[in-house]
Amino acid sequence: MRYFLPILFFIVQISGAQTIADCKIRFEKYLNLNGALNDKVLFENNAFYILNEKKEKEFAVYNNETKILADFFENSTLTEQLKLYKLKGINKLSKKQLDSLVITMNDDSKLPKLNPSKPLQNIRIAIDPGHFSSNYEDSKVEGKYVKLVNEKSRKKDTITLVEGQLTFFTAQVLKKMLEEQGAKVILSRTKENSTAFNQTYADWFNKRRNKVLDSLKAKKELDDDKYKILKQFPKEKLFWAFFRDYELMERAKKINGFYPHASVIIHYNVDDKNAPWTTTSHRNNSMCFISGAFGNKDLAKPSNKLHFIRLLLGKQVHQSETIGRLTMNSFEKNLKISRAKQADADYLMKHTLSTNCEGLFCRNLILTRCINSPLVYGESMYQDNVRESAMLNTSNSDLYGVKTSERVYLVAKSYYEAILNYFKEPEVKISGR
Ligand SMILES: [Zn+2]
Repeated sequence: MRYFLPILFFIVQISGAQTIADCKIRFEKYLNLNGALNDKVLFENNAFYILNEKKEKEFAVYNNETKILADFFENSTLTEQLKLYKLKGINKLSKKQLDSLVITMNDDSKLPKLNPSKPLQNIRIAIDPGHFSSNYEDSKVEGKYVKLVNEKSRKKDTITLVEGQLTFFTAQVLKKMLEEQGAKVILSRTKENSTAFNQTYADWFNKRRNKVLDSLKAKKELDDDKYKILKQFPKEKLFWAFFRDYELMERAKKINGFYPHASVIIHYNVDDKNAPWTTTSHRNNSMCFISGAFGNKDLAKPSNKLHFIRLLLGKQVHQSETIGRLTMNSFEKNLKISRAKQADADYLMKHTLSTNCEGLFCRNLILTRCINSPLVYGESMYQDNVRESAMLNTSNSDLYGVKTSERVYLVAKSYYEAILNYFKEPEVKISGR
């Protein structure tokens, strides 16, 4: 999309009325983690400002610009957004500039005409199956497995669960359920035990690592010192120092290139007070995350400022809150697990803001920040719970060609119902994405 061009492509639907006052309410409730952004964002009656490190005004949005810029940030790439950020600064856009922004915007976010017999016809849903390992050996690098003795089982069997396998099975079942209703679905990784780069981490490390690090150095995205350090790191160290975030960014890139109407990020949790997860826990909780809760250092990178402005201006946080609420309701109905409270885990106390729904929190994770669509990031249960671990360890369900546990099927069904109900919500039908 090229903005400031006076060529008329098509008129986009502008999302509902947004004022600076609306943005301020959203900022305080969903985005500003315990006052962390008080000296980084300034609200005045008729405008808000993003401040630079010297606390000077760097970028401004004025009352008459909010609607159009909200649409712009939800329908453009980071490169286009950065260009606008620099060009605009604290200037007011003229009527002509605003008009040309509107008429040149693409309409990818618009919802297709609804078809009652196939309620998700042509609706695009992105699914991210969290993590990537599907076997115990590979999952040791990611640290995403539980190997525990279940005290309840008669023989004191050891149970090994690998989160990346549970999420992948869930995603496969969910994809088929959504496709049956006409949805177009992508997975951020399409093979078991595979990363978003369509290969295992071991393969990436052996065959692609040097090329990637060299090219990032050439593009000056890695400085010389960091490059030298990373080049020498063994597999596991490089995973934590570089690959984990790098691969998540690739997932966000793939998902955003698909222009989804909604995104589902699938995880299975553990009881944080039960580390190192060698025995079972009696605790169990469901929780979901949506975007928001920016901390003190979270606006340092230019790209993060752009994500923040998109979330501050538009309605994605509220749309995500709706999907999140529906997902929490489905988890409760289908899984019969209680909802997490903020006091249940240290990371919830430190890094999240509560929403209007119990068990649903704003949390600034790479994917909740970088995915440009309404979304839910679900943690349906604790894998190390005494009952769940035994149930997850069976393959008693063979639905949609996926042989897995009945619990995995119920998790997929919960996300499916939430998505189906989300697109029935009256405000979603009216406002487009
Ligand atoms: Zn996870």
